Amino acid sequence: NLSDRLTASFKQLRGKGRLSEADIDATVSEIRRALLEADVALPVVRSFTAAVRERAKSAEVSAALNPAQQVIKIVNAELIEILGGEARDLRFAKHPPTVIMLAGLQGAGKTTLAGKLGRWLREQGHTPLLVASDLQRPNAVTQLQVVGERAGVPVWAPEPGNGVGDPVAVARSGLQHARDRQYSVVVVDTAGRLGVDAEMMQQAIDIRDATDPDEILFVLDAMIGQDAVTTANAFAEGVGFTGVVLSKLDGDARGGAALSVRGVTGKPVLFASTGEKLEDFERFHADRMASRILDMGDILTLIEQAERTFDAAQAEEMAAKLAGDGDFTLQDFLGQLAQLKKMGSMKKMLGMLPGMGQMREQLENFDEREVDRVEAIVHSMTPAERANPKILNGSRRLRIARGSGTTVAEVNSLMERFDQAKTMMRQMARNGGKGMPGMGMM
Ligand code: GDP
Ligand code: MG
Repeated sequence: NLSDRLTASFKQLRGKGRLSEADIDATVSEIRRALLEADVALPVVRSFTAAVRERAKSAEVSAALNPAQQVIKIVNAELIEILGGEARDLRFAKHPPTVIMLAGLQGAGKTTLAGKLGRWLREQGHTPLLVASDLQRPNAVTQLQVVGERAGVPVWAPEPGNGVGDPVAVARSGLQHARDRQYSVVVVDTAGRLGVDAEMMQQAIDIRDATDPDEILFVLDAMIGQDAVTTANAFAEGVGFTGVVLSKLDGDARGGAALSVRGVTGKPVLFASTGEKLEDFERFHADRMASRILDMGDILTLIEQAERTFDAAQAEEMAAKLAGDGDFTLQDFLGQLAQLKKMGSMKKMLGMLPGMGQMREQLENFDEREVDRVEAIVHSMTPAERANPKILNGSRRLRIARGSGTTVAEVNSLMERFDQAKTMMRQMARNGGKGMPGMGMM
């Protein structure tokens, strides 16, 4: 299965010291093969592997992770991305009732979902009504009634006056009933065929036009493999849909449907169905699905820990340097800047540091590009200069200013601030303050 194949592709990276281009290429083609075998749609496979390759090649060499871990981390991040990241909420109508129409092939899990959704909505404080607009199969209405009873949600079924034998009439009268009785959400169950056919699609379109749904949820059986894409496309072009529900994710789903559907249709997956019982239902979480596919929960945790530990060790090393003989060099400072940038907006960072209250005003005028300028200056120094700024005479300073696109005055001012910061930070470190050693420079 997909997990095993991916694991195997990472194995060949074990024992490598660093990630070479050849390693990346080999791993990416393994990943590509694994995805194709898992019935992931070709365009999705293409963009996925391209993204992984790009990220792997441009990844800064992380001393915290070995090559296999680095690639796993990248693949995990890309999986989450392709699965759609954070799921959005259901869209509710400004003026109730909200109409949610279910569409999908026969056996996809629509009727089961109607019950699950009904129960879930009720728990959220809504008053849902299920509408039986599947009149195709003899016992379809009874099935919805049974499900509704279990969920504690009323069901609107065809009867003389509500429409008999006409799913569109049932949908229309159900919606009217919901308006009359102040139901807040209407879930319309519809018929499906084993394969997509024109008549079924037209019926779905007619129900859609009669009820003007706020959401049309396409229910997709995660087990159907390669057909998932064809089916999803047929529904997208036919009745259209606003969101996807993946059903039967409890089975030995290969992950192909989940990975393809979002990439091919561009529509978000909102919910996941994971069993036959009403409670086997949850909001879709891309990160959970990704780790399901990777099946490497433990390794991902390890990776996070390794990175955290590494950062902590670096910070400690820095603190020790400062508290000791103060051999805090510009090279160290460069490392600090990289860390700072990694942590996001400088302004936000500065705002979070303790004891910065009186600096608020200065913060407002803080120019983040200053970090880039400082970085450029330090980059233009030789290792010897970084380790020992005392050797920076006039001609060296001029060379550095030219190399970094700054002025000698700017270089001078940075060096002055560096000296001050060193002194200040040394004191801070002695007093047990943690602070960011480089902060005083800005
Ligand atoms: P519909 O034809 O689209 O309305 O599909 P149904 O709701 O009738 O479901 C078809 C079959 O799949 C039924 O036997 C359900 O119990 C089963 N089913 C639905 N959702 C799930 C699920 O998430 N996991 C499992 N294992 N079975 C499911
Ligand atoms: Mg059904």
